[in-house]
Amino acid sequence: MNLVLMGLPGAGKGTQAEKIVETYGIPHISTGDMFRAAIKEGTPLGLQAKEYMDRGDLVPDEVTIGIVRERLSKDDCRKGFLLDGFPRTVAQAEALENILAELNRSIDYVIHIQVDKDILMERLTGRRICKNCGATYHLVFNPPAQPGVCDKCGGELYQRADDNEETVANRLEVNVKQMQPLLEFYEKKGYLRHINGQQDIDKVFADIRELLGGLQ
Ligand SMILES: [Zn+2]
Repeated sequence: MNLVLMGLPGAGKGTQAEKIVETYGIPHISTGDMFRAAIKEGTPLGLQAKEYMDRGDLVPDEVTIGIVRERLSKDDCRKGFLLDGFPRTVAQAEALENILAELNRSIDYVIHIQVDKDILMERLTGRRICKNCGATYHLVFNPPAQPGVCDKCGGELYQRADDNEETVANRLEVNVKQMQPLLEFYEKKGYLRHINGQQDIDKVFADIRELLGGLQ
């Protein structure tokens, strides 16, 4: 079961990744975890990645791809894997095709958790935090009993600058632009499957299970 998970921020990718990994016993491979592990193990590529990260630079594709190759060659990936956050570009997606061909494998599905932008905006801008005690709320998912007032201490609730409409809209725009060519790439390859992410979390997962039912 060789999977790539895709979705915009707020689409619920993290939650579904956890459920997939738990249910199917395949490793969840995110770029951040992969870098951290390679650095911790002190592999040559890990050390190279660390140099770039310490300087605050982006890790170049050749290093990232090398780390992905090493990671996917490990024993725990024999049953499959769930890639999350990689590939980010078509060049990386092409490199992934080559790595998998070397390993005599191929992607089964690219699961795209699809959620409309206005719903993502609502999810991503709804967070409110208590000025006094730091408790967090969400206007839709976990609203305070009284608008603008902390249930726990009566403190005033505020919205972090990162959560404001303009910042969130920009972040989504950047992600849409980055993701679009990848979706097209995988559509052409025939791997892409859309899952409706605008449903209850359990229903989203039920749809994923249905999709994965035929795989081993
Ligand atoms: Zn409070």
